[in-house]
Amino acid sequence: KTVIALVGRPNVGKSTLFNRLTRSRDAIVADYPGLTRDRQYGTGRVGSTPYIVVDTGGLSGEQEGVDPLMAGQVQSAIGEADAVLFLVDGRAGLIPADESIASYIRHFNKPVYLLVNKAEGHKKDVIANDFYQMGLGEPFVISSAHGDNVNEMIENVLSDVAQDVEDEDELDLDKHPGIRVAVIGRPNVGKSTLINRMIGEERVVAFDMPGTTRDSIYVPFERQGELYTLIDTAGVRRRKNIKEKIEKFSIVKAIEAMESSNVVVLVVDGSEGITDQDLTLLGLALESGRGLVIAINKWDNLTPDQRAKIKHELEYKLHFVDYAKRHLISALHGTGVGDLFKTINAVYHASMKQVSTSDLNRVLEQAVLDHQPPLIGGRRVKLRYAHLGGLNPPRVIVHGTQVDKLPQAYSKYLMNVFRKAFKWVGTPVMIEYKVTS
Ligand code: GDP
Repeated sequence: KTVIALVGRPNVGKSTLFNRLTRSRDAIVADYPGLTRDRQYGTGRVGSTPYIVVDTGGLSGEQEGVDPLMAGQVQSAIGEADAVLFLVDGRAGLIPADESIASYIRHFNKPVYLLVNKAEGHKKDVIANDFYQMGLGEPFVISSAHGDNVNEMIENVLSDVAQDVEDEDELDLDKHPGIRVAVIGRPNVGKSTLINRMIGEERVVAFDMPGTTRDSIYVPFERQGELYTLIDTAGVRRRKNIKEKIEKFSIVKAIEAMESSNVVVLVVDGSEGITDQDLTLLGLALESGRGLVIAINKWDNLTPDQRAKIKHELEYKLHFVDYAKRHLISALHGTGVGDLFKTINAVYHASMKQVSTSDLNRVLEQAVLDHQPPLIGGRRVKLRYAHLGGLNPPRVIVHGTQVDKLPQAYSKYLMNVFRKAFKWVGTPVMIEYKVTS
């Protein structure tokens, strides 16, 4: 996928643009309240071209700001990007901080697109005038808040850079047989150890070599008559019996692995508890819409206190992924790995299960009888009929009057009814609405 980084001073409109570009997944996130983190990574799509957007946060562009600005996050985000969208505030005009950010970005030798934002109600050439001297070419004059010119801009950017990126997407996935399982997690949580446990030494059929640090390795294998392809983000590869680790932790890589998968196994280091980065990965797993299993690893090595602590954290930190089953495992000793497979299979089959339109409508009708939708503006919301819009994740499209105004609590109620009726376990369930009269 094409990766696009948003860069610029604070308040130039990066997060507004981020939200506009990544809106495609809002439906999932909205159905799972509790995910309150600021999102920094998101996915979007123009036509059939998917992309990943990274909001790098604000760069001050101040002289003293240069060091923190070089540090970590921003640098690795730009490093992974195929294109950099550099936002400036058209109403503020060109200021020195913009110029120092521009010269910082230039070091990366990535395609840079200058976006002059907040341009609504202004003459294009007037507002852009200041910015030509930055030497970044013809700016795109946009309004993130109003959406002006945003689609044209992103289409342009993608058609420039997307062809350079190997499109390993959807079409190619068919060549990876069976249940596609992405194993993700922070470095050293035990992903490689678990992967070796899962595939077993002799069952390995083939290895793909990763092309870049962003690529995962696809490992097909068979277990108890079921075919799988394991998507390895840790980069285990064996060369003459030497296990060599080539992991470079990358959120982009984790996102791509999740998107290519059917089921995500998120590995957590039980001795460290649920960290912020684990929560980021869980939020992204939710957004990906794939089935999810949480594996708390290194259970063998935990003190009773550590065990109590993590059980507590599982209770209060993970409401937004309450659909995901948790397993306490030891990858090192193999404890719990058999059960993990059982859950992976169950989650896969649940998230791929076809449901007939008549069953859907029977369940919808009963749900409405049990608990009728609210009155809005003095009129009762009517849910007329439903159909299945897709699988993995299951998407239920509900048609009715004023459905766009249904409160979230009612959506959540419907979601739970559908989940229960169709045994959609371990997967997000999406409800989308279509207004009819
Ligand atoms: P990765 O970076 O996520 O692939 O993590 P590794 O699989 O390389 O594991 C990191 C370290 O944790 C290694 O020293 C492993 O031996 C150790 N480790 C992995 N799983 C377990 C486990 O279940 N129990 C214990 N005690 N150690 C483990």
